[in-house]
Amino acid sequence: MEYRHLGRTGIRVSELSFGSWVTFHTQADVDAAAEMMAAAYDAGVNFFDNAEAYAGGRSEEVMGSALKKLKWRRGSYLVTTKIYWGLHDGVNEKNTLNRKRLIEGINGSLQRLGLEYVDVLYCHRPDHTTPIEETVWAMHNIIEWGKAMYWGTSEWSAAEIVQAIEVAERHHLHKPVTEQPVYNLFERHRFSGEYERFYRDYGYGATTWSPLASGLLSGKYLKGIPQDSRAALKGYEWLKERLTDKARLAKVQALESIAQELGCTLAQLSIAWCLKNPFVSTVITGASRVAQVHENMKAAEIAPKLTPEILARIDAIFGGKKEEEDE
Ligand code: NDP
Repeated sequence: MEYRHLGRTGIRVSELSFGSWVTFHTQADVDAAAEMMAAAYDAGVNFFDNAEAYAGGRSEEVMGSALKKLKWRRGSYLVTTKIYWGLHDGVNEKNTLNRKRLIEGINGSLQRLGLEYVDVLYCHRPDHTTPIEETVWAMHNIIEWGKAMYWGTSEWSAAEIVQAIEVAERHHLHKPVTEQPVYNLFERHRFSGEYERFYRDYGYGATTWSPLASGLLSGKYLKGIPQDSRAALKGYEWLKERLTDKARLAKVQALESIAQELGCTLAQLSIAWCLKNPFVSTVITGASRVAQVHENMKAAEIAPKLTPEILARIDAIFGGKKEEEDE
């Protein structure tokens, strides 16, 4: 496992990391979560991602109980969480980055995780109704109080991030240091156009999500929907259409011959492809069972095999940046 700097911070993160969206609580109890986290940690993972909204707070509880069971030295791993959607319907409690919500939010997350601090606290989405100064000041205070080491953004536009950085610089506050964008063979828009220039100029970190497009790129949906897969879960019907889209499946099928040539699985090839992007700090992987963790962690060994020629062949299948513009 290699370690990359998180943007321009002094912190180094494992190039592959592990997150709990969909899986913790819904598909994995504390024992299963601990088993998967241990498999990732043993492979060199030091970055574990969560969010307040995952399973309505219960994903943080599961990770907290798993950490208690695993008894790892706190300095040996990083835990991240995110706030935006909230856990209640009150007018000031959902879809917001207001000061009250952020501070109440981090306190709740720490309680559920059983930790004194998280390593990165993300604003899970931009909030166009709260003044950016208010959000930046609250995130700064949370860091000053020792409740988070760094803060970041998730799915913010480059212009929104620059605005937050400028406010922080103007007032000598802690700046956001990393984005958490989607990034996989089907969704690459966060690393083209305005973003490419932004990541280069600002040295902003990128902890990317859904490397398998929710499992689609593992090839598991080529023959229909497996009973034990994400697409079959109650409450995730909205994903089904995307995971069974014929045009997308044809591309996954076409990728299979390249995986065979390289002697790896489709999942390993798809995750390895994300690692080739120099702007990526860590690729956050997900898994519903430990065998997937073992398989996915081997992607780090496949990445060096992706020569410019192989990358060009992959681009030919997925349409490169052109498809992004069409989407
Ligand atoms: P992926 O796209 O990699 O999907 C992971 C899912 O694919 C697994 O839960 C499993 O689902 C299936 N899978 C994984 N590995 C394999 C394999 N080798 N073979 C077959 N199936 C496999 O990642 P996620 O969408 O889970 O995202 C990863 C993390 O990113 C999240 O946990 C979260 O921390 C973060 N994230 C952040 C977001 C944000 O807005 N900031 C949004 C979404 C995610 P199954 O077995 O059930 O089919």
